[in-house]
Amino acid sequence: MSSTTENYLKKIFAASESSEKELVGLGDLAHALGVTPGTVTTMMKSLSEAGLVDYRPRAGVTLTARGRREALGVVRRHRLIELFLVEVLELDWADVHEEAEVLEHAISDRLLNRIDEILGYPTSDPHGDPIPDSRGRLPGPVGTTLADVAAPATVRIVRVEHHEESSFLVFLKETGLVPGAQVELLERNRAAGTVLVAVDEAPSAVSLPVARKLRVEVLRRPDRR
Ligand SMILES: [Zn+2]
Repeated sequence: MSSTTENYLKKIFAASESSEKELVGLGDLAHALGVTPGTVTTMMKSLSEAGLVDYRPRAGVTLTARGRREALGVVRRHRLIELFLVEVLELDWADVHEEAEVLEHAISDRLLNRIDEILGYPTSDPHGDPIPDSRGRLPGPVGTTLADVAAPATVRIVRVEHHEESSFLVFLKETGLVPGAQVELLERNRAAGTVLVAVDEAPSAVSLPVARKLRVEVLRRPDRR
């Protein structure tokens, strides 16, 4: 399977995961891939002939069972490679996404399974994204986004979504907003569009779009009086 095909399947999978709609619109897909709508239409016709997607002209597209299996395979390779690069090769978590984008299309099953074994069959990558197991099973989303939690509360970050931007990850690391970190949510300021948080007593203001990318588990809420 070509890396272009794999990237399309991965994007359709990601788009359908992040939306409740059954079909992914071709316009959204073109936007996500940075290509023209015409290019996407041509590609959908050939993926449909290959039995990987169910394409309904003017309505959108969805993965077939086989397409979903292939997409989960790419996601599994991507996330295991990211974790390997951080844990074993000690690369910075802000730099591994781009490397994984290339390697996910090249690595053999044998090498991947060895990485999985060396890492102790991990269930999440350095950004907290769940890793599908070798049978293509993916745990469902956990927690809620930081933007949706009522202040004040104590939360733990479980996942950073949309970690494509390396500068965003550098910012998160500097502020301590990484998976596993315990964070005090002090205040939500709707007018300013920010939430005020503290990690290890160091306060920082985070914009709502950033807060929406952080999935958290609520640990404690103060007792109401
Ligand atoms: Zn990544």
